[in-house]
Amino acid sequence: VTDHQRIGLFGGTFDPVHFGHLRTAMEITEHFALNTLYLLPNHKPAHRSAPGANTAQRIEMLSHAIDGVDRLQIDTREADRGRPTYTIDTLTELRAEQPVATLLFFMGLDAFAGFDTWHRWRDILKIANLVVIDRPGAELSTFAQNLLRTQASAQGAQIHNGSVGVIERCNVTQLSISATDIRAKVSAGKSIRFLLPDDVREYIEQHTLYS
Ligand code: ATP
Repeated sequence: VTDHQRIGLFGGTFDPVHFGHLRTAMEITEHFALNTLYLLPNHKPAHRSAPGANTAQRIEMLSHAIDGVDRLQIDTREADRGRPTYTIDTLTELRAEQPVATLLFFMGLDAFAGFDTWHRWRDILKIANLVVIDRPGAELSTFAQNLLRTQASAQGAQIHNGSVGVIERCNVTQLSISATDIRAKVSAGKSIRFLLPDDVREYIEQHTLYS
């Protein structure tokens, strides 16, 4: 038994949160023995168009979804900032709060393909480890392939207590669910049952989101 903290961050728009996110969150929490995995809703994503639900609503849907699961929490710092933010700033803040914890930043393979366009991406690897999660249909860019290869030979292939800059790939149960598809189904009047938790579906209905 160790009291070393392993803290994960899983960023996204969560517009809305669905079982693709939630099952992934559960599996990576167990696989990487995380004390806490923070789901990190962004405020206004730098790389995407404006979301359909507002920030407060995305956070409320997330809270419904993770209710009762102790190791899953929400970190609202990016959402609270009220302006677009960079991952490097969030990780710098988190590092200041958690000077000795091992930090793991999770992203889907689709997001990792464009990691070289992220603000100060090299500095991200000085603070945290990166876990790239396989996602149906997504492919590694040439940049991503090269970075995985060079980083593995420089830092070792496995995240361990105290490591930074390790990039691991992780396979999770592949659920081909996307928020885009859920929004499209709602707006077409189709059912979204069994794609996301009932509480979240009811929230969407009550607030007539995406229609
Ligand atoms: P959209 O369809 O609006 O782009 P999304 O469903 O991709 O949304 P995001 O909020 O953009 O959801 O995703 C947040 C993170 O979760 C990203 O790193 C993304 O790769 C990952 N993710 C999303 N859906 C899945 C899924 N079905 N399986 C595994 N990872 C997923």
